Amino acid sequence: MSCKMRRELEASRLDLVQKSAASGEISVKASELLSRMDFALSKHKKYIQQLDSNQSSFEYVVTEHLRLSGVYWAMSALEVWGAGDEYDKGAVADWVMQCYNDDDGSFGGNVGHDGHMLYTLSGVQLLAMCGRLDNINGAKTAAFVSGLQQADGSFAGDEWGEVDTRFSYCALCCCSILGKADAIDVPLAVQFILSCQNFDGGFGACPGAESHGGQVFTCVAVLAMAQALDQIDADRLGWWLCERQCDSGGLNGRPEKQSDVCYSWWNLTALQIIGRLHWINTKKLTQFILECQDVEDGGIADRPGNVADVYHTFFGSAGLSLLGSLDKLGVSHCPIDPVFALPKPLVASLGLQSQQLAVAASVAPTQAAASAPASQAATQP
Ligand SMILES: [Zn+2]
Repeated sequence: MSCKMRRELEASRLDLVQKSAASGEISVKASELLSRMDFALSKHKKYIQQLDSNQSSFEYVVTEHLRLSGVYWAMSALEVWGAGDEYDKGAVADWVMQCYNDDDGSFGGNVGHDGHMLYTLSGVQLLAMCGRLDNINGAKTAAFVSGLQQADGSFAGDEWGEVDTRFSYCALCCCSILGKADAIDVPLAVQFILSCQNFDGGFGACPGAESHGGQVFTCVAVLAMAQALDQIDADRLGWWLCERQCDSGGLNGRPEKQSDVCYSWWNLTALQIIGRLHWINTKKLTQFILECQDVEDGGIADRPGNVADVYHTFFGSAGLSLLGSLDKLGVSHCPIDPVFALPKPLVASLGLQSQQLAVAASVAPTQAAASAPASQAATQP
């Protein structure tokens, strides 16, 4: 939707609310109603529910290989909105099981696809959300995961051997959910993650690789699951993360890149885990995410004016939840655990534990003075 169309829609909405209030049709103040309408919840629900209906669309075809992750993002979006009971968990679990490879305990990205670490985590997360973890042999799945751990502690994604810190996260998260964390060498996994931390405090995909918001989430979450957060410089990392806030209010994943809604999950979760979520400007980020909504057809895009997709719809909603903004907008929601990426009540019922650093008082003054550009320092508390 174009900016012009959005402005026109906002104007007609305001007009409608004011007329209704004037005529006594509604008793609530127009301003209150407007703020509640800022998050287009019912449109977003409709968007998710209709995702599967157009199986000949371009988007459907090009994302065929990651269908399992798509289902995870869709279900998780409904969970954030507190609408977890509005989908048929039995049917979802039955479909997820069609992606399960019984010979090695892995999951592929779609029915009939080879197993991969990324989809094995999505499969396990989905079964957990559907209350159907007992559908699989947890020991066999944990053996698939542990079999991909390399001599240096890293993990490959599949038999082809690509190594990435994302896979370390998938491995620990998956085995933790299955109650089989002891199947992998956790201290060695931690050692590898620490070798991926850069001088700027961030983390890359492998040792020496550039820091990136997505990789920061995976590495920090691994350290949280392994109770090893004390081994990093949280102030330096926190500063790198909050420097990712752009003039638009949105966050980027690396310096000099455009802001993108998905970093409202990757970067914010890392900030939350290390107790420094308040180092970014909440109001500006909230506004940015809201501007990325398609208030006509539902869904959230990566940036304002772009086409909405399920991935950014989940991460944008989860970001608003983490910021406490859904509360302020009057939208009831279910918080998502920043480490396990599952609804918090589910994490509690599975008995999953992770470390979280105490909330830091403020930005370390020496660091702020040393490296903050004036425009960004102004956004700090
Ligand atoms: Zn994105």
